[in-house]
Amino acid sequence: MWKRILIANRGEIALRILRCCREMGIETVVVYSKEDEDTLPVLMATKSICIGEAKASETYLNQEVLIECAKKTFCQAIHPGYGFLSENPSFARKCRENGIVFIGPDDHIIEKMGNKQAARELMTAHGVPIVPGGEGIADTYEKALTDAKKIGFPLLIKASAGGGGKGMRKVFNEEELEQAYYAAGQEALAAFGNQEVYVEKLILNPRHIEFQIIADHHGNVLHLGERDCSIQKRNQKLLEESPSPALDEELRNKMGEMAIRAAKASGYNSVGTIEFILDENKEFYFIEMNTRIQVEHPVTEMMTGIDLIKEQIRISFGQKLILTQEQVKAKGHVIECRINAQSSGRVNMLHFPSGYRVRTDSYLYNGCKISPYYDAMVAKVIVKGNNRLEAIRRMRRALEELIIEGVQTNSEIMHLLMFHKNFIRGDYNTHFWERHSETLLQWNREGNADD
Ligand code: ADP
Ligand code: ADP
Ligand code: MG
Repeated sequence: MWKRILIANRGEIALRILRCCREMGIETVVVYSKEDEDTLPVLMATKSICIGEAKASETYLNQEVLIECAKKTFCQAIHPGYGFLSENPSFARKCRENGIVFIGPDDHIIEKMGNKQAARELMTAHGVPIVPGGEGIADTYEKALTDAKKIGFPLLIKASAGGGGKGMRKVFNEEELEQAYYAAGQEALAAFGNQEVYVEKLILNPRHIEFQIIADHHGNVLHLGERDCSIQKRNQKLLEESPSPALDEELRNKMGEMAIRAAKASGYNSVGTIEFILDENKEFYFIEMNTRIQVEHPVTEMMTGIDLIKEQIRISFGQKLILTQEQVKAKGHVIECRINAQSSGRVNMLHFPSGYRVRTDSYLYNGCKISPYYDAMVAKVIVKGNNRLEAIRRMRRALEELIIEGVQTNSEIMHLLMFHKNFIRGDYNTHFWERHSETLLQWNREGNADD
């Protein structure tokens, strides 16, 4: 096994990887910004190296410095976590050229799947259904208009290099098209340095259903079941659960098979996720592949008992999967809530929920600082029940135990979500938040007024 790896990330995912390494007997080197010097991954690593002030571009995104640090501390591999450089093919290539293993799929696979339009073409060639859309990139407004007329409204302009919900614009009629086309391109250029966009049909009232994939370097590919991530705010996930209330066994098997086919089409060899959108008639369409570990991976870990980070590291060392598809057993029901900070500052009182079948993944500790420079997600609360209702009741009590004082978070709102009748019925889609969050906020105000 690897003797020492470099963790090129921060926050909860750096801690998650570090904990796994300790259990596997692997030493860790953590690179960090001055801003993060008092955080747990920095304090717990075998060795920590400060590489800059606060800006991500000068620290966690600084490819040359990261590789240099890995070399001078004799790290054999780099774990990129999620976000930052995790889906950057040129970074993965540079690692390889410097004799360091990038813990993820091969760089040419990231390249192939990271471009959404190219991935769509690959999927079509392999018989995986994609959202109806334009052929190729809409490199001019005229091309976008031609595509739009062919597909019909409403539609979505999407950035080929998109991620994190950025570079997307809904268009309901021809009058809105021109502005949306240029706005999406501009946003994509600013966020990803690439302004390519394409046109696809806007699916109404869809659910976001994704499948966890695990593949090794020996041609074995398995899926570990689905996660329903339809509770989203501005295309960003807030809650994930498994199994999805919308799937029956037949549809699950069909989508799982397609997910495996999609992964095989790219020659995949790590952990990854195939994202689908499911329409009201239960037709499903591939939207993208995430070629990295995801925020919501604990949902699948709790369902299957498989440690995904451990498997990802084992695979990167060249080891084979030990399970077969038949041996993967998903049991019970799991829900994860993302806890996001709505302000920055010091946490002056902290208490995490625990007890039977409750897991909290977080980098917070009493007295720590929440930085305004990075992602707002500060904790993930994950619970498991024998069935969905038990999981909902367990999440209610877990969030009742959670105390984060000193900064604002969405924890109360997530707690109230556990009482919303549509959520309890499993009757929701990606529009849930825009339609119902005002109700939750209202409940919160009323609750506070009674105090
Ligand atoms: P998931 O939450 O399913 O893992 P997200 O798309 O929400 O996937 O991304 C996880 C994290 O990575 C978020 O912090 C998001 O802001 C960030 N991220 C995703 N894609 C990109 C990208 N292309 N560039 C920069 N950051 C990204
Ligand atoms: P990102 O790379 O930002 O995660 P995705 O392609 O995964 O981009 O889309 C993010 C979210 O946007 C999806 O989870 C879904 O809610 C919504 N979405 C994406 N494509 C469509 C579509 N064709 N119709 C309706 N909603 C969509
Ligand atoms: Mg996505």
